[in-house]
Amino acid sequence: MTWFEKLAIVIGMVLFMECFAWATHRYVMHGWGWGWHKSHHEDHDGWFEKNDLYAVVFAIVPIVMFVVGLWWPPLWWAALGITVYGGIYAFVHDMLVHQRGGFRWVPKRGYFKRLLQAHRLHHAVEGKEGTVSHGFLFARSPSVLKAQLRANAERLKAATGR
Ligand SMILES: [Zn+2]
Ligand SMILES: [Zn+2]
Repeated sequence: MTWFEKLAIVIGMVLFMECFAWATHRYVMHGWGWGWHKSHHEDHDGWFEKNDLYAVVFAIVPIVMFVVGLWWPPLWWAALGITVYGGIYAFVHDMLVHQRGGFRWVPKRGYFKRLLQAHRLHHAVEGKEGTVSHGFLFARSPSVLKAQLRANAERLKAATGR
């Protein structure tokens, strides 16, 4: 394999993982998988939350791919792409947004500020329904997300008749 092919696989996997993470967060974690993800939308003491089990489960896939990839290199590079995404996710979501591990950096402008605001707006809703911004590396602007939040709240109100 050429370096270009390896790099293309890694970048391609990072982009694929963002789509996969968005869909999983939107439809599984805020769907039938809410039981684990709920802990992430509530205040809690202690360092771990049940939601971390997702990271453990999702780590099994690249580990298996790394092993099998010893015999088939493209798979090894795909596993590396997933791992790179995992690293970016841990930085943006756990450290930057949720300040885990005592990380304190509040970006004042640019891309990281946008990501921070978008995920804070994801947490603006405590429950399973009506949340916005389920991605981690791509985010809509805060004004769009706020409009979506209002629309979701209206829709929920109409649906429950309250
Ligand atoms: Zn969520
Ligand atoms: Zn979060």
